[in-house]
Amino acid sequence: SEDFAAVAATAAERLAAHWRDLATGELPVVPPGGPGTTKKALPTTAPEHGEDLTEILNDTWHTIVPQLVHWQHPGFLGYYPTSNSPASVLAELVAAGLGVQGMLWSTSPAATELEQVVCDWLARALDLPETFLHSPGRGGGVIQDGASSAVLVALAAALHRASHGRWRTHGTEGRYRVYAGDQANSCVAKAARIAGVGDVVHVPTAPHTHALDPAALADRLDADRAVGLVPAAVVATLGTTATCAIDPIAEIGPVCRERGVWLHVDAAYAGSAALCPEHRYLNRGLEHVASYAVNAHKWMRTGTPCDVLWVADRQALTEAMSTAPAYLRNAATDSGRVVDFKDWQTQLGRPMRALKLWYVLRAHGLHGLREAIRHDIALAEHLARLVDDESGFHLVTHALGLVVFRCDSDQRTLELTTRLAAEPSLLCTPATAYGRPVLRAAVGAPYTSKDTITRAWSTIRAHART
Ligand code: PLP
Repeated sequence: SEDFAAVAATAAERLAAHWRDLATGELPVVPPGGPGTTKKALPTTAPEHGEDLTEILNDTWHTIVPQLVHWQHPGFLGYYPTSNSPASVLAELVAAGLGVQGMLWSTSPAATELEQVVCDWLARALDLPETFLHSPGRGGGVIQDGASSAVLVALAAALHRASHGRWRTHGTEGRYRVYAGDQANSCVAKAARIAGVGDVVHVPTAPHTHALDPAALADRLDADRAVGLVPAAVVATLGTTATCAIDPIAEIGPVCRERGVWLHVDAAYAGSAALCPEHRYLNRGLEHVASYAVNAHKWMRTGTPCDVLWVADRQALTEAMSTAPAYLRNAATDSGRVVDFKDWQTQLGRPMRALKLWYVLRAHGLHGLREAIRHDIALAEHLARLVDDESGFHLVTHALGLVVFRCDSDQRTLELTTRLAAEPSLLCTPATAYGRPVLRAAVGAPYTSKDTITRAWSTIRAHART
């Protein structure tokens, strides 16, 4: 009997107040409690009888929120951003309220067609090759829950193609290989494992850029083929996790194309920058690419999860992934005139994630999204200058919104890392780059400003001095 609209309005007020609190930077980024703090505050069994939503909402702010890491906090510089915006939040509420499930065109026609349209919108906005479009291309885009799922389904399509369909019935038979630069995200190794090809073959990257070396890749593909192995897929990265290195797709593309190898590009982070014409250098060589994925949830003000995967040939993907039990048969599918997104992903069921991308693209406009990206890049440049001007620190690399730095000795970098892990006002993440420990600061939270960056740097310096 509770009034949903009233409780939802209260929830919206709470969120708006939370965002205002985040913007002031007063809240800690990292929670104070150690392991077990939240579990201790919760009962061990579910309630027998229903409770008031208002009470549950209050408990959320009392028990859960204080023990969260605040990814939208201006001092959040760890990992790559996971973005959000009021438009995205509103769309998620509406999608959840409508409660539809779009596994087939016939189970939610508008959900499927909206997704086709927004994937095409985004492909055009990023200036991706026409082949990636649902219309008029032979390919198309689909929303996945993350770059990890995107690479997994791309590998399925690649194995299907490399084996001429035999993979569906015989598995990988120990013959197929997947290759990636030694800086590729760990999700590639995981996807290769799940796809049944075992360890991904890590190809060396150039010593001063950490970008995949096309000559080393060609040598490795040829050497494996010479001993009877079948190179099925190469995964290149635009914006590696540790240092935002950019693999040279324009050179890797022909290496793969000449050898009939599926090239997937993981542009989870950096791909969004191609919204800005001045960063379209990222797209060089994409005409050679079989599949390409970008996380809208990283740098496009769209809440997680929202990765967009495009394929140049949708048939290769759907042939690998399709299933057709009697309970999913319907006239629309049989007509061949519709897309059934169940055949583009691992899960059967799917929420209407296209709605949030639609809301975000309309509410911000491409201009708004470009300005947000340029703002973050300008802040990262500010931070890079601060690092570069500071004695005792080395600017290891700086690309797009990422700044990677270290101290003048590895020992000092590791000590600083330990100190910063206990610092509540900001979060940086450790990594290894060029064989040495480093710290990463990734700018992308919505309330980060020149002031908050300057303050964060003073805190880092103070820890380093101590
Ligand atoms: N690829 C790159 C380059 C990443 O930086 C990340 C995460 O930061 C991933 C893939 C994994 O993305 P997801 O969490 O969406 O699976």
